[in-house]
Amino acid sequence: MIENRLYNFNPGPAVLPEDVLLEARANLLNYRGSGIGIMEMSHRSKDFEAIISEAEADLRALLGIPEEYSVLFTTGGGSTQFSMVPMNLLRPNTTANFILTGVWAEAAYEEAKKFGRTHVAATSKEEKYRRIPTECLLSENCAYLHFTSNNTIVGSQFRTEPACDAPELVCDASSDFLSRRIDVRKYGLIYSGAQKNFGPAGVTLVIMKTALLERCPDSLPLMLDYRTYAKNKSLYNTPPVFAIYVCGLVFRWLRQRGGLDVIEKQNRQKADILYTLLDSTKFYEPFVSPESRSTMNVTFRISNRELEQPFLKEAEAAGLIGLKGHRLLGGLRASIYNACPLEGVEALAAFMREFEKKRG
Ligand code: PMP
Repeated sequence: MIENRLYNFNPGPAVLPEDVLLEARANLLNYRGSGIGIMEMSHRSKDFEAIISEAEADLRALLGIPEEYSVLFTTGGGSTQFSMVPMNLLRPNTTANFILTGVWAEAAYEEAKKFGRTHVAATSKEEKYRRIPTECLLSENCAYLHFTSNNTIVGSQFRTEPACDAPELVCDASSDFLSRRIDVRKYGLIYSGAQKNFGPAGVTLVIMKTALLERCPDSLPLMLDYRTYAKNKSLYNTPPVFAIYVCGLVFRWLRQRGGLDVIEKQNRQKADILYTLLDSTKFYEPFVSPESRSTMNVTFRISNRELEQPFLKEAEAAGLIGLKGHRLLGGLRASIYNACPLEGVEALAAFMREFEKKRG
């Protein structure tokens, strides 16, 4: 147990499993008795080669990633993928299609415009992104359809993949990757920064159909070309060794806990506690329509907006931190990723009921 630990509802970087932190701490000082710490070790060493290949194997087992998909450990966050995806996969005679469901989806769309033709296949902007659009209209010569599986700021989430016949699905899964089982075969490419659901900031995972590498143009800068990572097992240059190591620990932790079906159930249970509470009163106002709500980021307001600051202050005093909504949306947000314990969510719910009793 780590002493004096708070319940951390930050949107990312976010809470990591205690067991993982404790193991990482030991190996930070002396990796498995080697006499040097994990951060001080060559990325070309046998030890690190084992770390990165075990991490990949555990990830493949967790998600059931088929052989014909490549797993790439890149850097630069989801934001770099906003550029890399169109740079690598968009050709002059094709169009990148987007479903706009929030700020991050818009950012990916704006970035793609720099590299070729784009088209908005669906958007819920007029409804302030309070729901996930259900219909989608693809352009001609669609290269791929990009969607954001979980919208971290607004707190919405696709239940399943968008229902339309895109030649390739590209998914920004930055805030719900590994929170539930998905069928990787439905996707051309999935990307996610590690810092919300599975590791420290610094590493960004890309899972892609290996066949799509044939689309990459030769003119790309090496570090922005997916082939550089695929050909060199993500070791062309010095990767973020510590971050990859911790991701590997998280993958193993997820497997030990029973895998993604178990985790998904727990995530559902945690989210249900908060949404049931929010729906049971007029004191709080959930932001997103019921069918589109996220199991990862629960967004809400207090009907009397003046109570939001006191709410944050008193929550913090009660050991519940990171509940302030994104600056673009305001209000409150509880990010309850995989590593956020059920007890943390129960403590938050108890605090919310108590706060309503006092101030309602
Ligand atoms: N996409 C989503 C859904 C996000 O939540 C974020 C970060 N909050 C990003 C992309 C940007 O990721 P990064 O900070 O790793 O560049």
